[in-house]
Amino acid sequence: MTKLDAANPELTMTEQVYGDDPLADRQTDHYRKEYVTSFVDKWDELIDWEGRAQSEGQFFIDILRARGKERVLDVACGTGFHSVRLTEAGFDVTASDGSAAMVAKAFENAQTRGLILKTAQADWRWLNRDIAGKYDAIICLGNSFTHLHKEQDRRRALAEFYAALKHDGILILDQRNYDAILDHGYSSKHKFYYCGDNITAEPEYVDDGLARFKYSFPDGSEYTLNMCPIRKDYMRRLLQEGGFERVRTYGDFQETYGGDEPDFFIHVAEKS
Ligand code: SAM
Repeated sequence: MTKLDAANPELTMTEQVYGDDPLADRQTDHYRKEYVTSFVDKWDELIDWEGRAQSEGQFFIDILRARGKERVLDVACGTGFHSVRLTEAGFDVTASDGSAAMVAKAFENAQTRGLILKTAQADWRWLNRDIAGKYDAIICLGNSFTHLHKEQDRRRALAEFYAALKHDGILILDQRNYDAILDHGYSSKHKFYYCGDNITAEPEYVDDGLARFKYSFPDGSEYTLNMCPIRKDYMRRLLQEGGFERVRTYGDFQETYGGDEPDFFIHVAEKS
């Protein structure tokens, strides 16, 4: 074990940890036992950087530029896809995540592209304890927010995001279209976020409080994530009650969308 591993026991975990009944694992802290190093090492295969960049195009860059935003905090940086893209596009980005393994991978991915990423490990519920300064924009993408299983944690995370933003800052947060999943079953064509070849990402169990996704890779390995299926209007209400003055919701990077069609919703919440 290296000194760094000893300081971060999560960096040595290779197997996901669930209880005897995995459907009962509905705690906000559980993500730490899900993003183990072996899954983190597979994440880029899952999201396919090139395919994902093509799917989302300039969407986030345009939103940020149109509002004159420069200093961006990516609070769910994962392996660094958005942090790297935005840095390459000229934004001043800080990449953070609650998972030490993810933060390390993001730094490494940036480094292989010739960038030195500013990184920090920070759980959203205590964001301002670990992140200094105020930002023009916070992004929380890739369905990350739905790792929060309790309403109290969602409100707390939003309050931390709000506090880390400048007075006219914006929060960009996305979520899977759980309304469609809860009401009509799962029908994603994996068009937007999870585009890797021969990889399946699908819910293996869904109820009002749990959407358990299974990710299967060509080498036969399988991983799961227990997420909370929050509805679009509920999320919009939480943002408004969290103090954001305007909330605009896009479906799959478009301003107009039909009821249950999009895979993902993207909320752009403005502080003032
Ligand atoms: N944004 C990346 C992407 O789209 O590829 C990663 C998405 S991944 C589904 C969710 C990320 O959220 C993970 O990296 C996880 O560690 C992070 N996360 C989950 N709950 C968190 C929390 N309470 N605080 C900070 N990060 C959290």
